[in-house]
Order: sequence, then C-alpha cells, then structure tokens
Amino acid sequence: MSEFDGAIVVVTGGASGIGEAVAALLAERGARVAVLDRDVAGVRHFAVEADVTDARQVGIAVDAVAAHFGGLDIVINNAGIGAAGDVSANDDDEWHRVLDVNVVGIARVTRAALPHLRRSARAAVVNTSSVVATVGVPNRALYSASKGAVSALTLAMAADHVREGIRVNAVTPGTADTPWVGRLLDAADDREAAASALRARQPMGRLVSAAEVAHAIVYLASPLSSSTTGTLLAVDGGMAGL
Ligand code: NAD
Repeated sequence: MSEFDGAIVVVTGGASGIGEAVAALLAERGARVAVLDRDVAGVRHFAVEADVTDARQVGIAVDAVAAHFGGLDIVINNAGIGAAGDVSANDDDEWHRVLDVNVVGIARVTRAALPHLRRSARAAVVNTSSVVATVGVPNRALYSASKGAVSALTLAMAADHVREGIRVNAVTPGTADTPWVGRLLDAADDREAAASALRARQPMGRLVSAAEVAHAIVYLASPLSSSTTGTLLAVDGGMAGL
C-alpha cells in the first residue's frame, strides 16, 4: 500500500512540465489525480479546464473535482507564467496579469479548496515558488516579485491553517528543464549558445529536471512530511545556497 492510496489531489498547471510530472508521480503512487489547467488537451488524468484568474471557473472546477472523487485532500498550486525584463520592462497591465496568475491564482484555488480540505484528515497544500524569491537574478523583476509573494503567502497560509490540520509548504525550483524553458531557448538567436550559457550558470552545470521538482512536491504532499509545514524546500541545484 502506497502513502497516497485513496488521496484526492488537484494539480494546477498539471498539463505541462513540473505539474505534469507531479500528476504522473502521484497517480503512480495511488492518488486519485485531477488536473486543473487552462488547456487540458492531451491530459490523461481526470481534467477540469479552468483559468486560475477566473474565480468562477476555479470554484466550479474545484467543486467538480470534489464531487467526482468524493472530497479533496491535497492541492498542488503549480500553475504559473513567466515575465522577462527589469523593473521598467513591463507595463501595469502586465504586472497585474502575472501577479493575477502566479499569486492571486493560488489564493483563488486555495479559497475554493479550503472547505473540502477542512474535512480531510490528510490535508496538504504545496505551492510552486522559485529560487528567484530569494536570489537576485537579472531580468526577472516582475516574475521574482510574484514568486517572493508566493513564498510569503505559503508561510502565512501555513500559520493560518496549522491548527486546522492543513499543512502548507512550497518548493523553490531553480531552472528546470520543462517546455517553459524550451520556449525561452527557442526565442534566443542562437539556441545552443543560450542553452550552454544557461547550463554554465548552474552550480551543478545542468538544469534541474521536472521529475526532481516533482519528487520534492510529492514528498511535501505525502504523510512522510506530516510534521512539516511552513517550509520552502529548495530544488535548485545549489543556486540559492552555494
Ligand atoms: P509550463 O509552462 O511547462 O507549465 C505551466 C502550466 O501552467 C501549463 O500547463 C499552463 O497551461 C498552466 N497555466 C498557466 N497559466 C494558467 C492559468 N492562468 N490558469 C490555469 N493554468 C495555467 O511551466 P513549468 O516550467 O512546468 O512551470 C510550473 C511552475 O513552476 C510555475 O509556477 C513556474 O513559475 C514554476 N517554476 C518553473 C521553473 C522552471 O525553470 N521551469 C523554475 C522555478 C519555478
């Protein structure tokens, strides 16, 4: 019997990259997995199409998952988008758009999930933050601000809900090998040069894999971490610490 047998999990952004790896790993370990994504084409798990910027869609999607499986135990708040440039590179609309997805999206999904989580004996929330929440990386001003907020929100949520038996943690991945980073490299003039420059910036000389991040998220979602709440777990190849 695996540690997830019977657990009902929703993974936002579960159609691609880190979220896809998390959904696959949880399903492999016996969880009942639902993917919430704005684009669920090709998803092989129970899937609900919703945009985390739309409170109505999120409410309907979370309730649909709970109705389908008969409850909700675990929320993986992983949907996120990037933004490039220094603090002057993006206008107000873009600032609002990225913060709306990366930060307010977590609040919307968690708000909708809380009534269900309160009824669970194994409630856990895991948020995907980023190493840029604590390390200054050039040309990531807006994205870093959003992930700093995700890390702070994680700690606040952990404090608010610890007495209710709901654990809240986050992972802080470094540069992870996902379609997102693939898109960034595709946009470069010289893809191979950009990829090798990216690798050279990593203390381990390689990117973090989506599976490595997924294993950390799955650990924080599992009863193996039952005394862990309010923790930001780095999966960054040493970027923050070395
Ligand atoms: P990805 O682009 O491969 O996957 C992101 C998923 O989120 C997609 O399926 C997308 O459809 C979904 N999504 C985006 N906006 C959404 C919205 N408004 N509503 C619903 N779904 C939405 O990216 P990834 O690299 O797997 O990133 C996943 C998470 O990991 C993000 O929060 C990202 O900030 C974080 N992260 C990524 C890296 C990296 O280097 N790849 C590093 C640190 C943190």
